[in-house]
Amino acid sequence: MDNQAGNPMQPEPERLAQAPRCHARTRSGQPCRSPAVKGKPRCRMHGGKGSGAPKGNRNARKHGGRSAAAAAAMARVRALCRMIDDLEV
Ligand SMILES: [Zn+2]
Repeated sequence: MDNQAGNPMQPEPERLAQAPRCHARTRSGQPCRSPAVKGKPRCRMHGGKGSGAPKGNRNARKHGGRSAAAAAAMARVRALCRMIDDLEV
């Protein structure tokens, strides 16, 4: 078995060597030849695995400081402040 994918000093373990190969083409037009991710047609370098990040932007919605509800609450506070300023005049 030729072993251009991976470290040439350390041959692939038996299980990895038997894994199906990635279907992607490299920039030189040659097939990728890296082992594909389990259940996927591509290797880890060619979109086999995904980023691992949660779906959607869950982190951004954690506090809601800039949400529509927060903006509306701030608008009410500003309106109240204006009313108080008008009372003192
Ligand atoms: Zn690949």
